[in-house]
Amino acid sequence: MRLEDILFSQGFGTRRVCAGLVQQGHVQVGGEVVTDAGEFYEPEGLVFKVQGADWPFKEHAYVLLNKPAGTECSQKPSTWPSIYTLLPGPLRQRPQKAAVQGVQAVGRLDQDTTGLLLLTDDGKFIHKMSSPKHHVPKVYEVTTKHPITPEMVAKLLSGVVLDDDTKPVKAAACEAVGELHLKLTLTEGKYHQVKRMVAAVGNRVEGLHRSQIGGLVLNDLPSGQWRWLTEDDLALLR
Ligand code: URA
Repeated sequence: MRLEDILFSQGFGTRRVCAGLVQQGHVQVGGEVVTDAGEFYEPEGLVFKVQGADWPFKEHAYVLLNKPAGTECSQKPSTWPSIYTLLPGPLRQRPQKAAVQGVQAVGRLDQDTTGLLLLTDDGKFIHKMSSPKHHVPKVYEVTTKHPITPEMVAKLLSGVVLDDDTKPVKAAACEAVGELHLKLTLTEGKYHQVKRMVAAVGNRVEGLHRSQIGGLVLNDLPSGQWRWLTEDDLALLR
């Protein structure tokens, strides 16, 4: 693949901008500055530097973000800053065949929810992860307003009816891990589901953090930071 096409595919701008970056000496491959934008490379496994920063070639981008509170999972946020401002330009600009550009969040977290959020430009992956058939468990750490009783835990496990539905929804797992702390695992993703389930058992969510999706754990990635998903991470989501 030509170097300018590689850069274009990774979101570094139009082909013209990418060719300019190369011609002006801003791109290195294998530690050497390359100034011929038409130079051919095998993109798979290629790591290049653009303006001093390493960038690995990825056919599709899969990333994990530790979403901070006070951010919206929308490209056009209404009140709070968008989570997309936390990502570097190339991830936001990757060209796509669909109308949208760049990586998209796989599902959404509320403005005040923190934690693990996946983003990708792979539409099939988004579709699969969001499908109701793909019951991938999501673990939430919940801080409640009132003390958690054994009855509340029992109800969350046996099922509660939410206002827009007649069928009860239940937690796949639920345990009180402190007087005001609950660990809740859900395999569906209805609107405000955790907050509504906790309200349905007579309590209130004061803080909500998603710590795990499938076998993938957020661990110690700092708030507001992102990282690439590895093949091993992706296998934990299947
Ligand atoms: N459930 C909620 O209520 N909010 C979230 O952000 C995620 C799950």
